[in-house]
Amino acid sequence: MMLRNGRFGTYSLCGALGLVLLVTACTTAPVSGRRQLILVSPEQSTALGVEAYQQIKQQTPIVRGTQEARMVERVGAAISKVVEGAEGFEWEFTLFRDETPNAFALPGGKVGVNTGLFDVAKTEAQLAAVLGHEIGHVMARHSAERMSRDMATQLGLSVLGAATQSQEMVGLVSNAATLGVSLPFNRSQESESDRIGLIYMAKAGYDPRAAVDLWANFAAVGGERPPKFLSTHPLPEDRIERIKQHLPEALAFYKGN
Ligand SMILES: [Zn+2]
Repeated sequence: MMLRNGRFGTYSLCGALGLVLLVTACTTAPVSGRRQLILVSPEQSTALGVEAYQQIKQQTPIVRGTQEARMVERVGAAISKVVEGAEGFEWEFTLFRDETPNAFALPGGKVGVNTGLFDVAKTEAQLAAVLGHEIGHVMARHSAERMSRDMATQLGLSVLGAATQSQEMVGLVSNAATLGVSLPFNRSQESESDRIGLIYMAKAGYDPRAAVDLWANFAAVGGERPPKFLSTHPLPEDRIERIKQHLPEALAFYKGN
């Protein structure tokens, strides 16, 4: 059962499960102010993110010292500097040798960019749009939110019926962890990250209008079989439309305007 698609909204889930679990389960996403149900502590999700990142770094060739690798580090550093509420994060921006135009972010500030992304991110500002978006996922704790939804689904009636054994909880967390790093985000999380990313890139000195160009490039390479990054994300036309709606909000933070 997918709770997020059911008749229970996040708000009522927050109330019910928050009370039952006797934890502060509700937080608020940055920029959008959306209420979120999060049952995983920042420490737990950071630990999972760091572990998953370590595994990816062992399995995928890393590119260092090239112009592109330096750009990834430079843009990543510029954006992570303007982000608020990232205390305790050790930001890392790694370029991986992989021709798929893709990027990803893990809890705790671990970000990866594939070399293939440069086929669509053709300027530094377009790369900033990607990294702003990925950092948006991190700051809005989208992975933890997804894990929490899975946990809430699994806990279901057992939580309402009886006190949850802590061992059971640990099992659920580790099970959800696997899903947490391998499943795509949902569309509302993607849109939220777009909006947050626009503001982050603008604050870091990059023209947020570059995000529109980036998504137009993505759409152009899409063809009949869109690249993975695209297929797990909203339709490019919808996405560009929504980005345009949020541009004025972001441009207010852009000093080069
Ligand atoms: Zn995304």
